[in-house]
Amino acid sequence: MDALLYIDGQWKPGREHWWFNVENPATGRVMGRAVDATAPDVADALEAASRVAADWAQVPPAKRAELLDNMADALMANVDELAHLLTEEEGKPIKEARSEIAYGARFFRYYAGEVQRIEGDTFPDPEATRATFTRKIPIGVSVLITPWNYPLAMICRKMAPALAAGCPVIVKPAEQTPLIAAALFRVFDRLGVPPGVMNLVTGDPTRIGPLLLSDIRVRKISFTGSTAVGKQILRAAAEHVASVSLELGGNAPFIVFDDSDLEQVIPAILACKFRNAGQICVAANRIYVQRRHMTAVADALAEALSHLTVGDGLSAATDMGPLIDAAAVDKVSQHVQDAVTNGATIVMGGHPLEMPGYFYAPTVLTNASESMRLAQEETFGPVAPLLAFETESEVYERANQTPYGLAAYVFTRDLGRAMRAVRALHFGMVGVNDPVPSLAEVPIGGVKESGIGREGGHEGIHEFLETQYVSVRW
Ligand code: NAP
Repeated sequence: MDALLYIDGQWKPGREHWWFNVENPATGRVMGRAVDATAPDVADALEAASRVAADWAQVPPAKRAELLDNMADALMANVDELAHLLTEEEGKPIKEARSEIAYGARFFRYYAGEVQRIEGDTFPDPEATRATFTRKIPIGVSVLITPWNYPLAMICRKMAPALAAGCPVIVKPAEQTPLIAAALFRVFDRLGVPPGVMNLVTGDPTRIGPLLLSDIRVRKISFTGSTAVGKQILRAAAEHVASVSLELGGNAPFIVFDDSDLEQVIPAILACKFRNAGQICVAANRIYVQRRHMTAVADALAEALSHLTVGDGLSAATDMGPLIDAAAVDKVSQHVQDAVTNGATIVMGGHPLEMPGYFYAPTVLTNASESMRLAQEETFGPVAPLLAFETESEVYERANQTPYGLAAYVFTRDLGRAMRAVRALHFGMVGVNDPVPSLAEVPIGGVKESGIGREGGHEGIHEFLETQYVSVRW
């Protein structure tokens, strides 16, 4: 399968006809290739998006809403085909791929409504012959840079509010997952989006990135990915004072109090730590268990994981697929090795799986502590480190000891304790007895080094709007 560039309403093989290969992580085999864009391709995309920006901004909201609704319908009409490709390219089980597509479609549906509620303010008349008000205007050409772990949904979460706000977009997906991005564009290509309004460029970010980031016509850079690259984007955007939204990495604490219900906690850990093989920005990274509950949690978790079917996500029986590539397996192995060296005990797993592709065994570790790499960095793999704690105040302090602040979770049956946790935890999202809090209707995002800005909900569209203040005298 070949993925072409999509620029100015046309599919293009790139001016230089350069390509890069894409692997299926469940087999390690090449499954397709994508165009490795060069400077003239990026220039074409920038030119096309800039040319149509004023016209797209003028399209009436009701018309933009109709298009967004059609995009949601088209995604769901093609869910089988898209899910198959998503699983082949990214590795997640087919049932998770289908949910990702439904989640992506929800953003188009939600912003089809929200586009019709973009409102400014009026202020008390300062004088008898003067009026003041604000208008919300599209920010302009928007570059959307997305990661491989939710390669379809992360594009939708940015593209739907950008298009709704009236901004043309240039999408740059991750090199591991360009095929699903191109498939998404193929689905949308049939819907009559005006040429230039949505553009797709794939390839080496060290070549494409600086060209996109340094162009004065780009007024918004919306990035989802690692904190290290996010910092580079922020620096680059400063050069021409472009607006930046950053959805970056996390180091989520998952706090299990001893009054919590294990029948709720164990499936929650599976969802929050083993979904997508742990490759989730909001994945539980440090599982704090109140000491009295530790043995029960470790045993019940190991028992639940022993029933997990690991394999190629295309098989309907698979519960957990591979990691994205060999480097990901190496990182997880290093984290586990480091933890064991520093005193952690392996309850189960703790090794890569001897099979084709990039698989790591579901792993549970006890006696984990903050001195270990896996409590300091995102492991991005199927490893559940259990850290013991005694008291409420102690666990909140330990949970907050991180430069990251994306998501935190707390499991308890005590409402007062839950609310104290919400107030104490310095994170952009808190799930109380909820391991999967994301929805299209709510603001997703982090504090501290986990990012700037929010995606989803009514806040999400404001990332692509500016306020124009008007004062009229007569
Ligand atoms: P990454 O290495 O930072 O890459 C993210 C995107 O940025 C990719 O498209 C990448 O392209 C591109 N990129 C890399 N260097 C660039 C540069 N110098 N200029 C412009 N673009 C550049 O992250 P990843 O490994 O794909 O994704 C995993 C990370 O994303 C994790 O940290 C995870 O927590 C985070 N994440 C956060 C959220 C959230 O909502 N906060 C959601 C999902 C993921 P290439 O792939 O071609 O290198």
